[in-house]
Amino acid sequence: MIKIDKDPSQIPASLNSQKVKDAFENNKSKGFFEQGKYNHGDVKIALKAIYKSKCAYCEKSLTDQYGEVEHYRPKGKMKSLLKRTDLNSNIKRILETSQFNKSHLSDDGYFWLAFSWGNLLWSCKQCNMPKSTFFDIQENSRVAYSNESLENLHDKVKEYFLSEKPHLINPEFENPKPYLIFTKKAELKSRNARMKYTIETCKLNRDDLFILRFPLLNNLKRDLDKHFTSFTKYSKSDFNARLDYFNGTIENFFAETKKEKPFYAWRLFIIENYEHFLFRKPKQPNAKTYNLLIKLAMNQFGFGKHSL
Ligand SMILES: [Zn+2]
Repeated sequence: MIKIDKDPSQIPASLNSQKVKDAFENNKSKGFFEQGKYNHGDVKIALKAIYKSKCAYCEKSLTDQYGEVEHYRPKGKMKSLLKRTDLNSNIKRILETSQFNKSHLSDDGYFWLAFSWGNLLWSCKQCNMPKSTFFDIQENSRVAYSNESLENLHDKVKEYFLSEKPHLINPEFENPKPYLIFTKKAELKSRNARMKYTIETCKLNRDDLFILRFPLLNNLKRDLDKHFTSFTKYSKSDFNARLDYFNGTIENFFAETKKEKPFYAWRLFIIENYEHFLFRKPKQPNAKTYNLLIKLAMNQFGFGKHSL
């Protein structure tokens, strides 16, 4: 998950079309979401470009599969994650003890934000499905519809961001980076209660993500090990030859560590914590030389220059 830059003024035309206006007025009169298409072609194209063809929650590439227009705040009936039967006990404890709004364990959701540009994110099916309509907010912070027009609701979420306190992280308004911790097994963890909630809600440690994330680190380690053992001597010339290979491998890893590439947050975490992920333990064979090569290669390719 990474911070996303979205221009609130670049609203796709279909979200202000007459058809959408009619649906909006209908839903308004009913007081709940009954009808209306929000995922027109221009919305999909715009979101795909903004999200660099990646999922808002898991950062998986969506070039090979269809992305989905996702409502950050549910347009229809919403419920507390406490209602999920397979809920992680740790999250259950957080929810039961935190000040989330118990009067909204289930309600009609944010029908007035069904076509609101600021409420639409780009997501993969595997994140969108478990997220479903689960949405918890801090007690007494629930916003209400106050009769705004369709046009005036597109940027409304910015205002809501300051007043309402949802548990789910919104990558368009918050930088998730400080909350993310990855393990050597490519598992995503956090010390932050809201990020824990987000990980659980979208199931960000699913098998399909693990099999994509884990090789990014494993292949890097494998390549470095291969280069290291391809020389038998520990002379100065062999050291330099090893360093050339290490430089090449690390350079390639840096080249792929870009915002527009899948799993940027994970890649960046590896780089920023490379000693933890790549160094050999002191008792392992040739640890000193191996670690020195990594350090030199990392420094050469601008370690510390990347940031979110
Ligand atoms: Zn996803």
